[in-house]
Amino acid sequence: MERLVVLGGGESGVGTAILGKQKGYKVFVSDKGKIKQKYKDVLLHFEIDWEEEKHTEHLVLSANIVMKSPGIPDSVPLVTKLVKKGIPVVSEIEFATRYTNAVIIGITGSNGKTTTTMLTNHLLKQGNLHVGMAGNIGDSYAKMVANRDFDYYVLEISSFQLDGIVDFKPHIAILTNITPDHLDRYEYRFENYIASKFRIAMNQTKEDYLIYDADDEVITDWLRKNPIQSKLLPFSIKSELMEGAYLKNEEIIIKIKNNTIKMTTDTLALEGKHNLKNTMAASTVATLVNIRKEVIRESIQNFQGAAHRLEKVLKIHHVQYINDSKATNVNATYYALDSMKTPTVWIVGGQDKGNDYKELMPMVREKVKAIICLGLDNTKIKDVFGNAVDLMVETFAMEEAVKVAYKIAERGDTVLLSPACASFDLFENYEDRGNQFKEAIKNL
Ligand code: ADP
Repeated sequence: MERLVVLGGGESGVGTAILGKQKGYKVFVSDKGKIKQKYKDVLLHFEIDWEEEKHTEHLVLSANIVMKSPGIPDSVPLVTKLVKKGIPVVSEIEFATRYTNAVIIGITGSNGKTTTTMLTNHLLKQGNLHVGMAGNIGDSYAKMVANRDFDYYVLEISSFQLDGIVDFKPHIAILTNITPDHLDRYEYRFENYIASKFRIAMNQTKEDYLIYDADDEVITDWLRKNPIQSKLLPFSIKSELMEGAYLKNEEIIIKIKNNTIKMTTDTLALEGKHNLKNTMAASTVATLVNIRKEVIRESIQNFQGAAHRLEKVLKIHHVQYINDSKATNVNATYYALDSMKTPTVWIVGGQDKGNDYKELMPMVREKVKAIICLGLDNTKIKDVFGNAVDLMVETFAMEEAVKVAYKIAERGDTVLLSPACASFDLFENYEDRGNQFKEAIKNL
């Protein structure tokens, strides 16, 4: 019996274990940390062996194949040992895709993955396709493949998942954008991270499609230097394209082969330029899989956005509160500020990832009337923006930040939480940060 070892007993690990067991592997799950009780129950139910708070080397190194969860860096000694021994170490998307014949739509990029994945899933569902949504979102992809296969999968894919592919090939890929992120996992070299993102197209052939942001110079430069096989379908909010999606007279135009779709932008469910791009990308997929124009038009209007992404929380005394807690890097916050239409009280800060805030300066001067720092160490933010706004207040807890914002904001203003930083200094994760924000607003 072939032996599958799964490193990491979380959502993707346990899902892979279930699929592996079903496909006849002898499965062993090993986690250096603690495995959550709900996952232990599942492993027990499927009679899968596991260990926690350690990796027993001989049990791991005797694998025929290893699935490594995305959170585990390639550089840990156990993984280097596996690689040295010639044991294949793959990611969940690689392993699970071997057991499905579904059409795969793979979505990656530095920002906008979740939003675009959810919107694409929504469009395909509205078009009555039998579609499953997975990857870095919701239930494990491998578990879905094991339980009930779909005709289409829309997968949100991180660069860590892409690092562990061998043959994985989406029929349709989206690359939303590339800006520096997670560089700690890429030897602090941006090129390595870019190369990792482009692995989404590595196995594509000329029958497959790559949808990408043509306004993103990092992407277009790379494509010029590293031609790929797939059929390219760009999108742009700046220039008209021969083929792909672009803007003209407030309309999104999608041109593919001889097919043209026009959609008005004034009734889009998602606001902001970045969401215009996400909408273009998702609608291009929908066009490729032959969803009817009327269905696409309707669906991009009635889509409910994802929580913590420019999420409108409440209006209190004519002040709109917006939760963009998921903005954990400068680029995401750039688009958030860009989409503000009123004077803004901006709550920013958290765990800095080597941020360069300078590119936000013009936007801050134009839109931000007050800055509320919310982080353990706000030195950098104070240094950069201290002179750019009339009012800056330092806070160290969400409740305090929201109370201060409430005092400062006047009729017609917006209070925006868009931290541009990771959340781990004061919160469990970005969801916790966003939820505390919403809770504090409700308690005002
Ligand atoms: P991801 O899954 O890639 O982290 P999300 O859809 O969760 O992306 O969005 C993360 C953050 O980035 C949010 O603050 C959101 O408003 C912002 N964002 C969404 N789409 C884009 C885009 N195309 N370009 C830049 N920022 C974006």
